[in-house]
Amino acid sequence: PDPVPNGSAGASAPAAPVAAPAPVRRAARAEDPAVDAGEITMYYQPQIAIATGEVVGVEALLRWWHPRRGMVDPGELIQVAEQSAVMRLLTRRVVDDVVEQLAKWSAAGIALRAALNVSVRDLHTGEIAEQIADRLSRYGVLPDRLQVEITEGALMADPRRVLASITQLHRIGVGIALDDFGTGYSSLQHLRRLPLSEVKVDRSFVLGMADDADDAAIVRSMIELAGALGLRVVAEGVEDERTWRLLHAAGCDVAQGWFHARPMPAEELAAWLARYRPVRPAVGADPETPR
Ligand code: C2E
Ligand code: MG
Ligand code: MG
Ligand code: MG
Repeated sequence: PDPVPNGSAGASAPAAPVAAPAPVRRAARAEDPAVDAGEITMYYQPQIAIATGEVVGVEALLRWWHPRRGMVDPGELIQVAEQSAVMRLLTRRVVDDVVEQLAKWSAAGIALRAALNVSVRDLHTGEIAEQIADRLSRYGVLPDRLQVEITEGALMADPRRVLASITQLHRIGVGIALDDFGTGYSSLQHLRRLPLSEVKVDRSFVLGMADDADDAAIVRSMIELAGALGLRVVAEGVEDERTWRLLHAAGCDVAQGWFHARPMPAEELAAWLARYRPVRPAVGADPETPR
């Protein structure tokens, strides 16, 4: 029996189904009729090491399939969910699904790292770190296979309030990525003090860098700064080859974007991985930066 059955809107039932792991595709069990009516599923987008062309990981991205509206992108859903207890339930689902998926990949001989997104309120209590630790050990997944992404804006809004959770996750051995880097006014102090493993350059800068000298300069300086602090740098929103080559020239570690692959369901990802052949930027072929 599920503690939070569908249609129990308003019930103050406990959030977490702690029974045996359920299949990845199932109806949403949030205490919100709109979410209850649809289906939540995770898509996965490959992340490519720019120097070698190898797939080094995936980012898990939430998709909500609404019975009338079809596939709804997460932006809208997250914004609404964040106003209520629904966000907490969604995040629990995301953690469950992603860790379970990592175990499945591992059993299939696919060595992948997966990143999942959390919203700032998920980090206000110790619940998320506890849940992650519990699921990792239950599924026998090594903590370094998992990374938690938090947006720079969310983190910098109240760094002290989230520090305990982030430290806890770091102690467990889970990576921490600073998402949407460049949009949230990090102080260098915080960048240095937080136990981050990665920064993700926001796609708004990456999208512009092939035609806009300012965007290209901003991306280069973010890559340099992150590198100087010993952090891995991921560029998101890499849509074309020219941008990819510019990132290579700038020393960026990892690319994520439509140039390589769109986010896709786990089953499709397995097929994509089987087809994928590493693409390396040709030596000396890096394009000039725009002026
Ligand atoms: P994000 O974490 O910065 O995720 C990257 C977004 O860039 C994704 O949008 C992805 O589909 C999109 N993207 C990837 N490659 C390209 C590209 O080459 N060009 C362009 N134009 N876009 C690209 P998506 O999936 O719509 O997600 C939007 C945001 O919603 C995410 O931004 C993240 O902040 C949030 N989100 C997604 N899933 C979750 C989740 O499970 N939990 C939480 N808390 N937030 C989530
Ligand atoms: Mg993200
Ligand atoms: Mg991002
Ligand atoms: Mg973003």
